[in-house]
Amino acid sequence: MAEGMRAMIFEGVGRPLRAVQRKVPSPGPGELLLRVHACGVCRTDLHLLDGEVEISSPPRVLGHQIVATVEAAGEPAQASEPSEADRQRAGAASPRVGDRVGVPWLGWSCGECRWCLSGRENLCPQARFTGCDIDGGMAEYAVADARFCFPIPSGFPDDQAAPLMCAGLIGYRALRMCGEAKRIGLYGFGASAHILAQVCSSQGREVYAFTRAGDEAAQRFARELGAVWAGASEQTPPQPLDAAIVFAPDGALVPLALAAVAPAGTVVCGGIHMSDIPSFPYSALWRERVLRSVANLTRADGHEFLTLAPQVPVKTRVSSYALADANQALDDLRAGRFTGAAVIVP
Ligand SMILES: [Zn+2]
Ligand SMILES: [Zn+2]
Repeated sequence: MAEGMRAMIFEGVGRPLRAVQRKVPSPGPGELLLRVHACGVCRTDLHLLDGEVEISSPPRVLGHQIVATVEAAGEPAQASEPSEADRQRAGAASPRVGDRVGVPWLGWSCGECRWCLSGRENLCPQARFTGCDIDGGMAEYAVADARFCFPIPSGFPDDQAAPLMCAGLIGYRALRMCGEAKRIGLYGFGASAHILAQVCSSQGREVYAFTRAGDEAAQRFARELGAVWAGASEQTPPQPLDAAIVFAPDGALVPLALAAVAPAGTVVCGGIHMSDIPSFPYSALWRERVLRSVANLTRADGHEFLTLAPQVPVKTRVSSYALADANQALDDLRAGRFTGAAVIVP
């Protein structure tokens, strides 16, 4: 195996990622060394670059939608770990050398706190996140805790599987928060929404896609993926919605989404960061409307979504970039220059 590898590292807020040559990391107890085949770019990466979500100890390799093969395994973890309960949460046998795996945003949780012990490891106060607290996948190799890796369904090529790991998975968690809602509004038709639109259609739900005014390309894309209506975020949909998910990081969308949902409707904020929400009259929330956020993911979400994705079947649309072009991919995401998802292919 190679001694050195190429990686794109974050060094500080407001600075572009820098291409470096690094030693290939070695896996510790319970960890896997992964050869990265693809790594999805996520809006969270922009929040990290901009300092809206903090990276506490740079330099850091970003990227938390990794598809890779297991190259080597570290020593087995100590006898006490993983516990039986933890193995069940992990939901699958430990990956072996040669297996194809996915690594999501949740890279580690303590397994002992009241959140971890009640199926809410997404809220673990000690949780560590891939490409933020742990080096991620914008590199030729990465190391990950075996318990937090998922098997990748076989029908998905590497690049098309990568967006499932966050855009798909956290989008799916947000959709679950919408319960049985039939008419779903998606605000911001990017990587997550283009996957969720397919899931919603397969479940007999109606998708209403909201984009920036005049973004014909995104609206056309939404209709191609089964949306029954697509328009500008400021528009009133033809029917009151049962639920809405706000993916775009614009707080001004929240009162618009509340106004678009019927009584008892839910508005879910799907991102990790959003600009301030403007004040709105209580009448916008009255009649049992619900406003909530969705944070991170649990491994149970991952197993559920990765079982569902091939049944839909979800087809992701990806724009691929070489590792050295990671900054271009991030710029293009910021400027909305592609539809679907961007993926780095080292
Ligand atoms: Zn993400
Ligand atoms: Zn915990």
